Amino acid sequence: MSRYTLEVDLGDRSYPIHIGEGLLSQADLFKPHVAGKVAMICTNTTVGPLYADRLKTSLLDAGAKSVFTVSLPDGEEYKDWPNLQLVFDALLQNHCDRKTVLVALGGGVVGDMGGFAASAFMRGIPFIQVPTTLLSQVDSSVGGKTGINHPLGKNMIGAFYQPEMVVTDISTLNTLPDRELSCGLAEIIKHGAIADTAYLDLVEQNMPALLRRDPELLALVVKRSCEIKADVVSKDEREGGIRAILNFGHTFGHAIEAGMGYGQWYHGEAVGCGMVVAAELCRRMGRLSAEEAARLKKVVVDARLPVIPPVLGVDKYMALMAHDKKADSGSIKYVLLNGLGRASTSPADEALVRQTLLEMGAG
Ligand code: NAD
Ligand code: MG
Repeated sequence: MSRYTLEVDLGDRSYPIHIGEGLLSQADLFKPHVAGKVAMICTNTTVGPLYADRLKTSLLDAGAKSVFTVSLPDGEEYKDWPNLQLVFDALLQNHCDRKTVLVALGGGVVGDMGGFAASAFMRGIPFIQVPTTLLSQVDSSVGGKTGINHPLGKNMIGAFYQPEMVVTDISTLNTLPDRELSCGLAEIIKHGAIADTAYLDLVEQNMPALLRRDPELLALVVKRSCEIKADVVSKDEREGGIRAILNFGHTFGHAIEAGMGYGQWYHGEAVGCGMVVAAELCRRMGRLSAEEAARLKKVVVDARLPVIPPVLGVDKYMALMAHDKKADSGSIKYVLLNGLGRASTSPADEALVRQTLLEMGAG
């Protein structure tokens, strides 16, 4: 049974990510962080009943003074102020103080909300991430972005706040719905496409095993994806430059998500399709060969993700992309590949983008 520990290198905010099977039950991992302290588990109504008891037992075995739990309603639509307030309510009602450790147990929604609550409660309390979706294990638990949505925009209110530790228990993926698993695979494919062709090979060759949830392979890809994301983030923690390459597939993807109405296409599905559109654009710009673009598309298909952009009309795509927060000063910035494994941001000729979308079926 493989077990990995890697370090996210952010100076005095560096922290370890532990990856393996059954880690929720490993009290020794939690001991340095919770012994003698109060812990607050922040979870939701789906994940809590599955895993909160196990985590609570480990925290108590690790010497926590007491463990409380706050359970949020499940869903992106609850990633908002009123529900964030429930976390502060629970912290205050249970007389938590600045030494309390907040442990976020769940997917990216719980991680983003728990992290933001930890950043703001008494101006910042220690925070541990226990991500339970593949997407949160390879993406949202690395990099320190936390926050909530505003009615006028997704993730508009938040903070950069790094956890003390991430505990990624691969075994929790056994209960994850198939559609959510595929969404995590989209971000994994993205990591290969932007940074590491050998990794893309590995994901491509082992897709059936990943879909079967083979724990050894899942642990390996979670580790490699975290390394790639951590490497990018450690070079550009606050997204002044290179961190933007992590948005490969997201410019088109966000347009699909917003254009279809949030929740219709899941984020990972939109990103999967967005990468295929971006790859086709790169092919037309002479940056990718036809073989490379076809290969990326096939990996996305194999991950059971959609590859045909929905019919929103090309004008709508362009308007939505111009609105996306990554577009500055009017020109849309795309993340483009210069061959598989190398990414950079760049504007693209609008007529070519329009033609690509139209010919791929988005018109
Ligand atoms: P999610 O948190 O909504 O989880 C998806 C679904 O799976 C939910 O219904 C959840 O209750 C359920 N679930 C979670 N773990 C489970 C398990 N082990 N077994 C069964 N069901 C389980 O979605 P997500 O895809 O994990 O995260 C998406 C969120 O993450 C978005 O809000 C997005 O903005 C955010 N995000 C943040 C970052 C970042 O850098 N902070 C990066 C990417 C995404
Ligand atoms: Mg994403």
